[in-house]
Amino acid sequence: MNKESNSVYKSTCCYCGVGCGVKISVEKNQLISVTGDTEHPVNQGKLCSKGMNLQYTVNDRSDRLLYPQMRHHRSSPLQRVSWDEALDRAEAVFRTLIAKYGPDAVAFYASGQCLTEEYYILNKLVKGFIGTNNIDTNSRLCMSSAVAAYKKSLGEDSVPICYNDIELADCFLVAGANPAWCHPILWRRIEAHKAKNPETKIIVVDPRITDTCALADLHLQINPGTDIVLNYALGRLLIEQGDIDLDFINDHTEGYEAYKERVFERTLLESAIICGVPAEDIERAASYIGESKGFLSLWTMGLNQSVVGVNKNLSLIDLNLITGKIGKPGSGPFSLTGQPNAMGGREVGGLANLLPAHRDMDNKKHRDELQQFWSGTIVSGKPGLTATEMFEALADGRLKAIWILCTNPLTSLPNARLVEKALKMAKFVIVQEISNKPQTLDFADIILPAAGWAEKEGTMTNSERRISHLHKAIPPPGEALPDAEIFSRFAQKMGFKGFSYPTPEDIYKEHAQLTSGTSIDISGLDYTLIDSLKTVQWPFDLKKKQGTTRLFQDKKFLTPSGRAQLHSPPDQHHSELPDQNFPLILTTGRIRDQWHTMSKTGKVSKLNQHIQAAFLEIHPNDAATLNLADGQLANVYSIRGEVRVRTRVSKTIKPGVVFLPMHWGKLLGSDLHRANNLTNDLVDPISKEPDFKFCAVRVEAH
Ligand code: SF4
Repeated sequence: MNKESNSVYKSTCCYCGVGCGVKISVEKNQLISVTGDTEHPVNQGKLCSKGMNLQYTVNDRSDRLLYPQMRHHRSSPLQRVSWDEALDRAEAVFRTLIAKYGPDAVAFYASGQCLTEEYYILNKLVKGFIGTNNIDTNSRLCMSSAVAAYKKSLGEDSVPICYNDIELADCFLVAGANPAWCHPILWRRIEAHKAKNPETKIIVVDPRITDTCALADLHLQINPGTDIVLNYALGRLLIEQGDIDLDFINDHTEGYEAYKERVFERTLLESAIICGVPAEDIERAASYIGESKGFLSLWTMGLNQSVVGVNKNLSLIDLNLITGKIGKPGSGPFSLTGQPNAMGGREVGGLANLLPAHRDMDNKKHRDELQQFWSGTIVSGKPGLTATEMFEALADGRLKAIWILCTNPLTSLPNARLVEKALKMAKFVIVQEISNKPQTLDFADIILPAAGWAEKEGTMTNSERRISHLHKAIPPPGEALPDAEIFSRFAQKMGFKGFSYPTPEDIYKEHAQLTSGTSIDISGLDYTLIDSLKTVQWPFDLKKKQGTTRLFQDKKFLTPSGRAQLHSPPDQHHSELPDQNFPLILTTGRIRDQWHTMSKTGKVSKLNQHIQAAFLEIHPNDAATLNLADGQLANVYSIRGEVRVRTRVSKTIKPGVVFLPMHWGKLLGSDLHRANNLTNDLVDPISKEPDFKFCAVRVEAH
C-alpha cells in the first residue's frame, strides 16, 4: 500500500539499478529514517551501506537550494527571484534562441535518477513541442551500449531475465562489473545461492581483482579492451566442444555461419596472448558455460563504457544465443543497470535517439503517432545531440543554451576541461538541482531548486523491468519543486497545451496509455494497481493483472524476422593507445560507498570512512619503476590534463594499468582529484557511450 500508517511511506532506493524497496518513517521536524522493506520482492528488507544511510542524505538539508536564483550577466552575482521571474526569463531566452537559430539551438541534459514521470514530461516537452530531439541523459554514460546491443540482437531494448533466475542458474559469467560493490544486494543473493549450491560456477572477467573475485571459481584478469577477443574464444570453444544448441540456432537465430567464421579466425593461443590470460583458463571458462543448465551473463560498465561498447555487448549476448540459454529459467543476458531509473528513462524514450514505448525515431509512422497523441508539433526524425555531443556543440557555438537537471557533468563527463570550456561558451545555462555543491552551478544563469528523493512522488524501473511506486514522505525545503512540476510550469509559459497535470499519477497514466499495443505494454497500470501488486514487471497484462517475469520464453524475438541476430563484428578496439609519453592505461570506476559525484553520499560521514580520498591504484612493478611508494603523492598526466592523488600500490591491478575512482570533483578549490581531467572524448560510434575505461597516461612522483 501507499502509506502504511500516518507516518510510514513505501519507496525505492535512489542509487543503483537493483531497485531495493525501502520504508520511510517520518519523525518530528520532518526528519526521516529509512529501513529495508521486508515485503519488497527485490531485497526482502536488506539494504547495502548506501541504502542504509539514505536518511542522512535527506535529513541534512544544509546544502539544499531553497529558492530560484538568477543573474543577468555571468559577471553579476546571483540574486534570489520568484519562480515566475525565473521561468519567465527561461521562456523568453529559449523562445528568442529558438526563433533566431531554430529548435536545435537548445538542449536538455537530464539523469538516470529522474523519475519516469519527470523523464516523460521532459521528453514530451522537448520532442513533441519544442521540436528538437536534443534531450539526452547521463544514462548515455552508463547503459546506451547495452540499449543498442539489445536492439541489434533481440530487436528491442528488452532485458530478458528476472532476478529469480539467479536461484535457477548454475553458471554466472560476470564481465566488466564489480557487483559486490556496485550492486551489493543482488550480489548477496548470488553469494547465498552459491553457498547453498557450491557446484555453481562463477567466472569473473575484469582487469582488476575486485571484491567480486572473492566468490569466483575463475577470474580471467584480461588486458583492458580485449573482451571481444575473449568472448569469441569462448564461442569457438563452445562450438568445438559441441556445447551449442544447434536446434535453437537453426530455428531462432540468424547470422550463425558468419559468427562461426569470425570466431575461428583466431586460435585459442592467439586469443589467450591478446587477452593476457592462460589458454587453460579460457578452456575452463568454456567448459563451465558448456556444462551448465542455467547460464546468466552479467555485465555493466566494463563492457558498456568503451569505444567498442556495443560490439563487446553483442559478443557477450552471442554466448547466450549459441547455447540457446535465453528465455529459459536461470538463463539469459543480464545487463546490470547503473542508475536507479535508467530503465524508466528508456521506456519513455528519454535519450536523444529514442522515442516513447520503444518507438523508432527513423519510423515516420511512429513519429506521427506521437504527434497525434500529444497534439504537438512534428516530431523530428533527426537524432538529437548526445551527452558528449551537447558539450562539444556548446564549445563550438552550434548549441546556444542548455538546461541541466539532476546531474553534475563537470565531474562526470569525460574530458572535463572541454566541459568547462563548453559551459563558459554557452549563451545560456539553466541548472536544476537539489544541492548547492555541484560545480556546474558556477556557470548557471538561472538556478532552479528541485525536490529530492522522498520529497516527491513517481515511479522507477529497475534492472529486471520492475516498476516501483515511490511515495512522497515529506515536503521539499524552501521553494523547491518536483522536476515534473517545473517543466509543467515552463511548458505552460511557452504556451504549450497538455501540460497541466493535477498529480504525478496523471502523467504516469498518459505514459502508460502510450505503451498500448507495444512490447512494453503497461496500459491500464496506475499507482493503485502497482501498490496492490507491490511492484510490476513490464509488459503488464491488465486482464490477468500480472506482469511478465521472463521475456522470450516463446522464442519469438522482436526483430523483423522474429529471430535473434548473432552479430560478429571485428574484435579490435580503437581506444587511445599508450605510447612513449603516456605509457600506462588508465581505467576508472566506482568505489563501494560513494555514488556518482558524491552530492548525496559525500554528506554521510559513515560512508566517507570507507575510502576518504581519491587514489591511484598501481601495480608494485610499475610503482617500483617510477620510484613510487604506497601512499605517496603522484601526478597523473594524459594529453588532456592532470590529476594529483596518493598511490595505492597493490597487486589487485595488472602491470601497465592504473585505476582512478570517478567520484571526486572539485574539492577545496582544487579539481586535481577529478579522474575526468584525464579521460578522452572517444565514444562508441553506435551508442555514443564514452571510453571511460581506457586512455593513455603517464605517472610521476609529485
Ligand atoms: Fe540501494 Fe542498490 Fe544498495 Fe539496493 S543495492 S540498497 S538499490 S544502492
